[in-house]
Amino acid sequence: MPTRFFTATGKFYRGNLHTHSTRSDGVLDPQEVCRRYHAEGYDFVVLTDHFVGRYDYPITDTSNYRNDGFTTVLGAELHAGTMRNGLIWHLLAVGLPADFDPPDVPDFKSIDGTESGVDIARRARDAGAFVAIAHPHWSRMTEADALSITAAHAVEIYNHGCAIDNDRGESLMVLDHLLSQDRHMNLIATDDAHFSTPDHFGGWVMVKAVENTPEALLAALKAGEYFSSEGPQIHDIRIVDDGIQVDCSSCVTIIVQGNGTGTATLHGMSMTTGHLSRDSLTDSKWLRVTVVDRAGKRAWSNPVWNDG
Ligand SMILES: [Zn+2]
Ligand SMILES: [Zn+2]
Repeated sequence: MPTRFFTATGKFYRGNLHTHSTRSDGVLDPQEVCRRYHAEGYDFVVLTDHFVGRYDYPITDTSNYRNDGFTTVLGAELHAGTMRNGLIWHLLAVGLPADFDPPDVPDFKSIDGTESGVDIARRARDAGAFVAIAHPHWSRMTEADALSITAAHAVEIYNHGCAIDNDRGESLMVLDHLLSQDRHMNLIATDDAHFSTPDHFGGWVMVKAVENTPEALLAALKAGEYFSSEGPQIHDIRIVDDGIQVDCSSCVTIIVQGNGTGTATLHGMSMTTGHLSRDSLTDSKWLRVTVVDRAGKRAWSNPVWNDG
């Protein structure tokens, strides 16, 4: 088992990986979206407009809205092929090159014989992107659908827009099914903000990187050097001889989850550190940590693996 969750040097940068603008079906223009995220205290944002013909296959150029304290990474929400329920795939691609070739998807409906979701995810990853399976609950995908996206780095386990607008924002179960089948996969929390409802500033990632640049952030995302949050901070997680040590912002619950039904859980009033036993988790190849604050807001680590 690795001894630490965060091994990189650097500091944590707050960012939202999933946002829309007027380049697709969002309400605000790209500059205003960037301004609002910066004003809210974010260090970076990724505009992920819908990459379909209806919007002229946008990879929204946000490079003009970067400044000393704020940056952007180019990206898009890709659509292609169909899931087992017949609906088109939604896949996030962060760090997509501006000249990424469009699929043949005029609108949110796939055409028989054109590129599949599996294939466009692979093509995006090969082009250098960090790829995530978007909002599994909202999409109502099956476990087999999720397993098929072999190029994905992560599952979007919290989508704030879906949580606010239709109570289908949570997909931790899909992630745990993949982990339990030895699929090495990380997790992300995002906004999926369109700014048409209170769908923003609710889910984000804290990426540990040496500097707040698109290149450093993208490398750290691919390396899993981040945690996801809707409020709390995770400062550090260390595997020690007899357990796990978690340092975090003030919280009431700290949980370590693994492959089986057993978990290690600490309850308190305003804990900023916790030592948890691994006794009920010794058979698990992977461990991940959840922290819950007094308001019920959570932060989630990525899993660490012990499989050589
Ligand atoms: Zn979507
Ligand atoms: Zn979206």
